[in-house]
Amino acid sequence: MVKPAVAIVGRPNVGKSTIFNRIVGERISIVEDTSGVTRDRIYADAEWLGREFSLIDTGGITMEDEPLNEQIRQQAQIAIEEADVIIMMTSIKEGVTQEDEQVAPILFKSGKPVILAVNKADNPELRADTYEFYSLGLGEPYPISGAHGLGLGDVLDEVIKHFPEHEEEYDESTIKFSIIGRPNVGKSSLVNAIIGEERVIVSNIAGTTREAVDTRFETANGREFVVIDTAGMRKKGKVYENTEKYSVLRALRAIERSDVVLCVINAEEGIREQDKRVFGYAQEAGKRIIIVVNKWDTVEKETNTMKEFELEVREQFQYLSYAPIVFVSALTKKRLHLLPEKIEEVYMNQNLRIQSSILNDVVMDAVATNPTPTDKGRRLKIFYTTQVSVSPPTFIIFVNDPELLHFSYARFLENRFRDTFNFEGTPIRIIPRQRK
Ligand code: GDP
Ligand code: GDP
Repeated sequence: MVKPAVAIVGRPNVGKSTIFNRIVGERISIVEDTSGVTRDRIYADAEWLGREFSLIDTGGITMEDEPLNEQIRQQAQIAIEEADVIIMMTSIKEGVTQEDEQVAPILFKSGKPVILAVNKADNPELRADTYEFYSLGLGEPYPISGAHGLGLGDVLDEVIKHFPEHEEEYDESTIKFSIIGRPNVGKSSLVNAIIGEERVIVSNIAGTTREAVDTRFETANGREFVVIDTAGMRKKGKVYENTEKYSVLRALRAIERSDVVLCVINAEEGIREQDKRVFGYAQEAGKRIIIVVNKWDTVEKETNTMKEFELEVREQFQYLSYAPIVFVSALTKKRLHLLPEKIEEVYMNQNLRIQSSILNDVVMDAVATNPTPTDKGRRLKIFYTTQVSVSPPTFIIFVNDPELLHFSYARFLENRFRDTFNFEGTPIRIIPRQRK
């Protein structure tokens, strides 16, 4: 299911990040804590009345060198391109400003639903004072206070009313994938080279705005794929698309909508710090991953060159130990045909369901070769293991005390599962549970 996106737009200091944090709540810090990847606070998961959505703070996407009104105009444009619903924020303190008057018509003309929020309405007198904001032509102004958490519920009620009806963009059997990586690793070249070899399907899905930027194609064996978000890669050059934060946002949006993510490394330049950050986003999202080493044509090869590069990748991306590595060249098209095959394989792996009886045999064998750990004289006892879900495969292990299942032993079990079953490319979750 695709989550709708909501963007907050408004001039600096109206309280956008305050509201962003209020709506997102604790979630964002949890994500940051577990991954070691510091995600910019421009994009996060949120929920209201059981409806999940992604929240974008366009204020965090600054184009430093531009004058203020140009920055705000660009942020409005990003919101229009990325979001299903837009919250335009103003502040009762300053009243309607010139910048507000400049942005409002741009948003209005986009045809996207816009909710007008008037922040810093901290007390009832101020709340009564919002009528002047009708002049922006965006309908009813909603008074809110980020500082006191007032009025947000009304805004969010209105926001979710405008979520699009359709939940599935593509047929369920269609495999959605995206290609992420630093600038210049060859993402666009890869997309063009892959779809150049296949039959491209002209999309006729009604009612989705995204189809325009995706490319659907079918391989010779009749399997349908969609490359997510290729327009952003294929028509380049718009100033704001070149800003680092905007490209991060695009990558996060694309990952969100993908079944499989191709993480691309440039063989010519080798592995860089930035690669780790970018791939971390896909890992964090729990997506199936394939590591693609592109521009392999540029590398002088000796007998062990590929093996050595592979070792280097494994060393640098230890958290992606489950991801297969494919060496290709978008230029010469060498081994490129392997990609759709690999994507399909990895996709199927994630839907693998293992029978409990088989699973428990594997766990028993594992315990026999490597006894469970002890802590302060108490030994971990494993009673029963069961797979509770797919995408990603999630296993619950019933034990005497979850504290005793240390990370390293969970890792050991995960590796045994991987040795026995084909979970290549997919993350696995292991959750210890106490059995009473
Ligand atoms: P942004 O630049 O739009 O992201 O604005 P911030 O969220 O950084 O807020 C700007 C300033 O306004 C900060 O000093 C906030 O504490 C303050 N602020 C945010 N919301 C409110 C509010 O509801 N009432 C008042 N009085 N101040 C607020
Ligand atoms: P993106 O920024 O990641 O989308 O990268 P592009 O697809 O625009 O490619 C950046 C540059 O690398 C272009 O000049 C491409 O022609 C070049 N390039 C892409 N793939 C390959 C490849 O496999 N081999 C070589 N030698 N050059 C490539």
